[in-house]
This record gives sequence, structure tokens and C-alpha cells, in this order.
Amino acid sequence: MKGVVIKSTGSWYLVRDADGNLHPCRLRGKFKLKDAKVSNPLAVGDRVMFEREASEENTAIINHIEPRQNYIIRKSTHKTAHSHIIAANLDQALLVVTLVSPRTSFGFIDRFLVTAEAYDIPVTIIYNKIDLYDEEDRRYQEAISGLYSQIGYPGISCSAEKEIGLEAVQAVMQDKTSLVSGHSGVGKSTLINKLVPDLALKTSEISDYSDKGKHTTTFAEMFEVNPNSFIIDTPGIKELGLVDIENNELGHFFPEIRDRMNDCKYYNCRHLNEPGCAVIPAVKAGQIALTRYESYRSILAEEDNRR
Ligand code: GDP
Ligand code: ZN
Repeated sequence: MKGVVIKSTGSWYLVRDADGNLHPCRLRGKFKLKDAKVSNPLAVGDRVMFEREASEENTAIINHIEPRQNYIIRKSTHKTAHSHIIAANLDQALLVVTLVSPRTSFGFIDRFLVTAEAYDIPVTIIYNKIDLYDEEDRRYQEAISGLYSQIGYPGISCSAEKEIGLEAVQAVMQDKTSLVSGHSGVGKSTLINKLVPDLALKTSEISDYSDKGKHTTTFAEMFEVNPNSFIIDTPGIKELGLVDIENNELGHFFPEIRDRMNDCKYYNCRHLNEPGCAVIPAVKAGQIALTRYESYRSILAEEDNRR
């Protein structure tokens, strides 16, 4: 049978078949890790084949993992330790942010966008808590969402709590598997609860299975919005690990820098103060947002420090 992993506990997996039935599964023993640098062979979103074993009570055995279209990892903070695959086969990411109560920083947003660019995952920004906006916040919101949509990140404004604008969020999720991310406190759980019918019921059903496993630490979970639309929640993961970015590569992950860097005089221009740089004049002319350029510089400086 074919299915998709919707929850992983490390020793147990919950697999959803095409009809929506859930199957607790184990991985065939001695399953080879495809990539020696990661610690888990299987993650939420993986498409697998599995078979029922007559001997085991209720368990099926996963014996094949389909090649991944993409996947996101969390890098270990220890240099020697392995990275962890958080989720696989994502169609897009929805970054939930707030401009009020509290205001999500540009640094956080831009770091997330760089990571998504590196993984080649499209991002829609969800501006939540619009019920708290005053006139000035509304103007600010228009400016910010204009900035981001212009460089390829469309936005949706909503209030999860007051259920305003949720149809638009649903529409963007339709027929896709979406990673839902955001700083804690922005209303991720509130939003997911409104979008996933019977969520409370589903989670209790799922934890019954995982209780049988030894490791109940979960890194991600997939929920059904409707039979063709899924969201992946990553509780406890504040930030995706920045993938390794070479010194002169960071500009590739800023679309508005990427669009101009071919015109820089030097191929390895870092767009800091090099002569003939095509990016710096665009910042000065206001064609590239100063906040974005500042994020670029600060990520570059951090990467330099890590080396
Ligand atoms: P999470 O940490 O991202 O999962 O955030 P929560 O969903 O736990 O929400 C954090 C707080 O923000 C809670 O007190 C929610 O009630 C509140 N909240 C979430 N969405 C909205 C919203 O649209 N408007 C307002 N006013 N509050 C919200
Ligand atoms: Zn340059």
C-alpha cells in the first residue's frame, strides 16, 4: 500500500493512505539511511510503501521511501552530530507574522525567506492579528506587504482569533502541502485550530499510537485541512536551520539582489562596498528596501563569524 507519513516519533510512524485511513507503522529493520549526515531515515511528508504483517497486532511495515521532491532539515548545534530531517515534499511555506502584539522582526522574516529560497520553497506571508490594527498599523501593513509581494512573497492578512480573512488562507492552501511557520506568539496554533476540522480529536487519536513508542518527541506533524490540502506544523522549532551558504552566495537567496548581481563588476562581489557594485546603488535609490539590505548584511556577518 502507498501512503504519506503524517507523524513520526522516531520509532513509530503514522501513515495516511489515499483513502484517509491511518496506519501505525514501523520501518523495516536495518533500513539504510540514504544520507549519512542525517539522523532520521524518515520524516513527515515522506511518501512510502508499506505492508501489513500478519504477526504484529496492528502494525504495518514500511519497506520503501519514494525519492523526495525536497526536504528541510534542522542542523545540529554540535559540529559532529547529525542533522534532523524535519519534513519532506513541501509545496510551499506559510510564514505567519504579526505587525502588532508583538511585531515580528525583519531579521526573523528575512532569515526565514533566505532559508526557503535555499530550499527552493515558495513562501506566502500571513499577516495575522489584523483585528488589533489602528489606522497607522494598517498603513504600515500595506507598506510591508507591498515590499514583500514585490519581491515574490505574496501576503494575506487575517485574524485567526476573530476569523477574518480565513477563506483567503484556505484558498492558498488548497491542493497543497504547506509548512506553517512563525515566531511563537504570532497565532500559529490559533490559526491551525481554525483551519483543521476536529483537530483536538485527531491529535488524541494520534497520540494513542505514539504512546506505544519509546521516543515521543515529535518534530513535525501533518494535518488534513481537507482531503487534498495538508499543513505541516513544527511545534518547538523556532527557526529553520540556515543551510550552508558560501560566502559569495548569499545574494542568490535575496530575489532583489539576485536580479541585479549579474551587473556587478566583480563576479564575487559581496555588495558591501566593492567598486562597480550594482546592488548598492539600488539600495541608495530605494529600489531595494533598506531593511532587506540590512538583513543581508547581518546574515553575511553571522556567516563570516561561523567560519
Ligand atoms: P503560537 O505561539 O504562534 O502558536 O500562538 P498562539 O496561537 O498560541 O497565539 C498567541 C496569542 O495570540 C494567544 O493569546 C491568542 O489568543 C492570540 N491570537 C492569535 N491570533 C490572534 C488574532 O488574530 N488576533 C488577536 N487579537 N489575538 C490573536
Ligand atoms: Zn555587488
